Amino acid sequence: MLVYKRILLKLSGEALMGQDAFGINRETLDAMVQEIRGVVDLGVQVAVVIGGGNIFRGVAPGAQGMDRSTADYMGMLATCINCLALADAMNRAGVTARVMSAINIEQVVEPYVRPKALQYLDEGKVVVFACGTGNPFFTTDTAAALRGAEIGAEVVLKATKVDGVYNADPVKNPDATRYSTVTFDEAIIKRLKVMDATAFALCRDQGLPIRVFNIFKTGALKNVVMGKDEGTLVHV
Ligand code: UDP
Repeated sequence: MLVYKRILLKLSGEALMGQDAFGINRETLDAMVQEIRGVVDLGVQVAVVIGGGNIFRGVAPGAQGMDRSTADYMGMLATCINCLALADAMNRAGVTARVMSAINIEQVVEPYVRPKALQYLDEGKVVVFACGTGNPFFTTDTAAALRGAEIGAEVVLKATKVDGVYNADPVKNPDATRYSTVTFDEAIIKRLKVMDATAFALCRDQGLPIRVFNIFKTGALKNVVMGKDEGTLVHV
């Protein structure tokens, strides 16, 4: 049974790299499209926010010495490149996608207009939000929280390389255990890193749950929307 009808999926830029050192890995991209297609076919309305860390990050060592706002604008434009790649891969796979940008670059993609985004979602199109929040000093996690709240998503799904939130780093510590659910308050007290503080606060204040899950596990996204015990749910 479907537990979510409208989701906001947050993919980090790094998720698109696959095993590559930077950029966009074609096979990884196509695999993600299949995961997304799996839930679109179930009738779930899907909006996506993609990061840009695989191309440029305003706080990366490569941006050191740069004006922070300029570096952040570069990071936002990097997210747009990823959005174009994802939308192209989706359209090739027969999943209709529309990219909407927080920064006006109308020759490339249409601007973000909330009612239009809602219309696309109702039509069953996947909406891909580009250029983060459109403002420097923010992250695409915050963009995911913001757009998620704006479009009335029932959950923000944060795709990561591990399958949820653990009590210790599962890569370094084999005894680490995964939380199935955790409250926002517990996550703060136990200093569990879920999202950056701004994004986390926005979700908490709006009562918008976050589910952290592994995008590289085939079928995990489908499990999430079907309400199976996948990843970690952070809730009020
Ligand atoms: N960015 C920004 N404002 C936003 C979203 C992103 O300035 O609202 C910039 C910032 O420099 C950030 C970069 O874009 O480092 C890429 O986003 P992010 O680091 O969130 O990508 P991810 O880590 O998810 O790949």
